[in-house]
Amino acid sequence: MLANLLHSDFGLFAGEAFLALMLGGALLAVRQAVLGKDGPRTRLDLTGPLTLLALLLLFVRPQSGPASANLPGVLVPAALVYLIGLVFGYRPAPWVWRGIALFVVGLIAAQYHGVRIATLKVPFAESWVELGAVGTVLTALWLALFAGLFGRAATIPGVPAGVAALGGLTFYAICRLREDLTTPEGAFFALMLAGACLPQVFLAQHLRRGGATSGGYVIGFLVGVASIIGALKNTALLVAVVPLLIIGAPLFAAYCTYIADLRGSWRAVAHARRLRHLHEILLEQGYSPRQVLQIILGGTLFLCLLAIVLVLLITVSFVIKLLAILIAAVAGLTLFYVVLRMMPRPIQSAEGDQPLSVSLLGVKVHAVTMPQALAQAEKFIREDTPHMIVTSDASGVMRAVDDPEFRDIVNRADLVTPDGAGVILSARLLNIPLEARCSGCDMVVGLCGVAAELGRSVYLLGGAPGVAELAGKKLQEQFPDLRIAGCRDGYFKPEDEPEVLEEIKRTRPAVLFVALGIPRQEKWIREHLEELGVPVSVGIGGSLDVISGLKKRAPVWMQRAGIEWLYRVAKEPSRLPRLAALPRIVVLTFAELLRAPQPVDSADSIRQSQENSR
Ligand code: UDP
Repeated sequence: MLANLLHSDFGLFAGEAFLALMLGGALLAVRQAVLGKDGPRTRLDLTGPLTLLALLLLFVRPQSGPASANLPGVLVPAALVYLIGLVFGYRPAPWVWRGIALFVVGLIAAQYHGVRIATLKVPFAESWVELGAVGTVLTALWLALFAGLFGRAATIPGVPAGVAALGGLTFYAICRLREDLTTPEGAFFALMLAGACLPQVFLAQHLRRGGATSGGYVIGFLVGVASIIGALKNTALLVAVVPLLIIGAPLFAAYCTYIADLRGSWRAVAHARRLRHLHEILLEQGYSPRQVLQIILGGTLFLCLLAIVLVLLITVSFVIKLLAILIAAVAGLTLFYVVLRMMPRPIQSAEGDQPLSVSLLGVKVHAVTMPQALAQAEKFIREDTPHMIVTSDASGVMRAVDDPEFRDIVNRADLVTPDGAGVILSARLLNIPLEARCSGCDMVVGLCGVAAELGRSVYLLGGAPGVAELAGKKLQEQFPDLRIAGCRDGYFKPEDEPEVLEEIKRTRPAVLFVALGIPRQEKWIREHLEELGVPVSVGIGGSLDVISGLKKRAPVWMQRAGIEWLYRVAKEPSRLPRLAALPRIVVLTFAELLRAPQPVDSADSIRQSQENSR
């Protein structure tokens, strides 16, 4: 049975694919050995020659794959495409010139190498149309389109090789699923291409941005060839869906950009001519090249799977296929949007060392990481004038949405740190680049570190009797230089308040921690801020209970996964009603998204939210 399998088409193809992988890997290893693992990043694009070399070595092997005289010939026009890529890489020219050059190579491939769209299936009918000379022109256009688009997508090294690898595997799967409609040459070529391209995704990280264009042209050209010899000749429109879907994402993005432009003015469109592709928009929005590669390959994988499903549905009615495409499009776009927004992006700071202030559902939040928040607090302490810091979690934001007085207090605070997964989630959905969360507990520890370093003291107010003292001791164990100006529980009577205020004023701490629960602590701080004159006053909720050791904090992995709230509710079921804030913030965020579509440009969105928060 094994012998049968090995001698079957599948065995042969699997062996060839393995060989292609090994070959690609070996070439990669040679390159690494020559340039070193962390060797100089190069502008010289090796993906094109490596792909061609891998394919050439496979084709010259006797009896490898189905006999096909014209396949090795594909490599000649592909090499021409590489030269075109090189020339335009060194001497950039308008896209029309590049298009014409690629079109001419497409004509050569169609005319002399037999890679040709010869027939086309009539939609909704079983008849085929012989294309004749039109087929040659169509082929040239098709190949030029693929080469051009992949060349452009090569701004992010790894995109052409990755998309070609996934596309090649998809073509192969389609050929195997519908052997009656496809050709063995097509299946073979698609698998070879996938094998040759897959290892190069890893090579790509050694290329500088923009250095991979010529390889992108070659790979795009080869994907175009694979789509034609694989199935297009026979299944015409059906398989055309696959590459169109693969390149559809950038085209869709370009279309959206146009629409966005059109909302402005016609003149602006004429001036800007911003036909940007998806990856270009993503880079502008602050995603790293690595993230863009992940996004594009993820999207491609989704589209490839959809293409395979469509092939499986080939015999069902057109209406059902259309429905499947519609459902997949809506689900895919929603998923794409959510994944995109969830990906962390570096926080951009506003002018100077001022942290960027954004508006989340009308409530102010600063886009700061913990070190940035602490640097800001240190500045406040050095200025020695009263400042208020708010740590804002989902329930805090929801309360601010409902309670205008509390909202006003938060919006007037000098620093509002994002605390909690709900806030980060909502911000990211709204295209506001908040990064890690600054939890209340970490804030207390961090601020104590700052105070200790500056030789200043902190005052702990709040919690049940004895808790603040216990927390103070723990903090002093961690920071031996820390001075505790005073401790006071949070259950003092109204008539004792003047005494509490007097004590704080007298001891002159640099930081006043107030743990009375949201929103009481913030209201209390606002009311007494100027009178107390403490440089930094911050509401910290139940942090003293945790720091004192009376309550356990969620394990680090839960904090990292953003599900600390789950742990707190499991420990204290009475907190369950507060959980309502999480679904509420998500629902309100989506409502906000539907009400006001976010600008394409994140800089625009930040500017807008800054204006809103003023
Ligand atoms: N608290 C207080 N005085 C009060 C009410 C509450 O000191 O009158 C304390 C309470 O002991 C607890 C903290 O305030 O330590 C509130 O904790 P919770 O976890 O409810 O606050 P959150 O972080 O959720 O705002």
